[in-house]
Amino acid sequence: MQRRKVVIIGSGPAAYTAAIYAARSNLAPLLYEGFFSGVPGGQLMTTTEVENYPGFPEGVKGPELMQKFRKQAERFDATILTEDVRSVDLKRYPFLVKGSETEVETEALIVATGASAKRLDIPGTREGEFWQKGVTACAICDAAAPIFRDKDLYVIGGGDTAMEEALFLTKYGKRVFIVHRRDAFRATKLLAERVLHHPKIEVIWNHVLLKAEGDEVLRRIVLKNVQTEQEMMREAAGLFFAIGHRPNTSFLTGQLELYESGYIKVKPGTTFASVEGVFAAGDVQDPFYRQAVTAAGSGCMAAMDAEKWLSAKE
Ligand SMILES: Cc1cc2nc3c(=O)[nH]c(=O)nc-3n(C[C@H](O)[C@H](O)[C@H](O)COP(=O)(O)OP(=O)(O)OC[C@H]3O[C@@H](n4cnc5c(N)ncnc54)[C@H](O)[C@@H]3O)c2cc1C
Repeated sequence: MQRRKVVIIGSGPAAYTAAIYAARSNLAPLLYEGFFSGVPGGQLMTTTEVENYPGFPEGVKGPELMQKFRKQAERFDATILTEDVRSVDLKRYPFLVKGSETEVETEALIVATGASAKRLDIPGTREGEFWQKGVTACAICDAAAPIFRDKDLYVIGGGDTAMEEALFLTKYGKRVFIVHRRDAFRATKLLAERVLHHPKIEVIWNHVLLKAEGDEVLRRIVLKNVQTEQEMMREAAGLFFAIGHRPNTSFLTGQLELYESGYIKVKPGTTFASVEGVFAAGDVQDPFYRQAVTAAGSGCMAAMDAEKWLSAKE
């Protein structure tokens, strides 16, 4: 069985950045970029323009940016396997990583498997329909796009994410509507109060989304009142799912300490996970910032933490 100093699991900004740094530290990293476990390249492969990644003043397409990350990792001789990691054994040392086709032992492990924004499977909102043509799952990433300016925007959800996204959208939209299936929010009181008192935000209680329609881009949505069953059509230029994220950590159950929500626990201010020699970077350990640049930053931290840990052990 082959043995490595560092194995990296994942393929978003965090994983590729960790690979670039680890490779440049002569650690010859092996990276599992996934195959079925999300799109290789990560969440940005599902978006069009990325306008807030530094170094690209004109913006850059998500897939193009990730291709550049990957190329840079390859340039420094990181080995990339297009394979999913099915399980890890962190109770033995060196750790064992089991991919769908290969098995490898490693002295240090960096987990950067990201998270998936939850979406509802509603007609009109899927890929090839109005996904990324008015329908999205990240207001902070997409709100400044011209199609949303001074238009009516809709947020689906009732938790903290929905409150934050709605407040952020008020900078761009004419009016912001929160569609919630219950008659009360489960968001923290402070955030909910800010939303309820905001002059540009209106809440549509007890409603669910039935479908999204349009032409080239999203134009309208149909909502249903869950109490009366009555349907209504509303003009909409933007539809933002804000129903939470799911970290990609199912293969780690019983191996690493996770929060109830599935996020990996790390020592604050570092990337050290609960097992010595294991490091976590990017959205998989970050329910708050969830941006490409913060993921890349923590990928750099993970590689540096791993390098220091390995040299202290020698
Ligand atoms: C639609 C959309 C638009 C966005 N726009 C922006 C934006 O404009 N600007 C911005 O800064 N951020 C944006 N974001 C957020 C940004 O994409 C994420 O914060 C960032 O991609 C997180 O990077 P990551 O490295 O943690 O992992 P991710 O990008 O989540 O990638 C992780 C990848 O690891 C792989 N993987 C998962 N499990 C396994 C496994 N078991 N084995 C092997 N591989 C595995 C999968 O391929 C997965 O896709 C957007 C997100 C979405 C969904």
